[in-house]
Amino acid sequence: MYQYINVLGGNNMKIISKILGMFVGLVIVFGLFSCDSNDCSHSYGSWSIQKESTCEEEGLKSRTCIKCGEVQTQTISPKGHNYSNGVCTICGKSE
Ligand SMILES: [Zn+2]
Ligand SMILES: [Zn+2]
Repeated sequence: MYQYINVLGGNNMKIISKILGMFVGLVIVFGLFSCDSNDCSHSYGSWSIQKESTCEEEGLKSRTCIKCGEVQTQTISPKGHNYSNGVCTICGKSE
């Protein structure tokens, strides 16, 4: 029983608080690199097309962070008609 008290008392208490301080420091460092924080510098893979844009309609592309898996989506602007002799060569719509 005396030994048990001795472990918690005196200099050992300082060591415990040091370890605790280091642990808190680690948590803070981990927090900085964690993707849950807004400071996360995401590392995204390449864009993959979810929906191809057409002449008039927007498409959709997405990419995923390789660190935390957060998905970023972006719209693809419509291609616009490509008229040839008054008719779109892509969708066939007349001008
Ligand atoms: Zn991330
Ligand atoms: Zn078209």
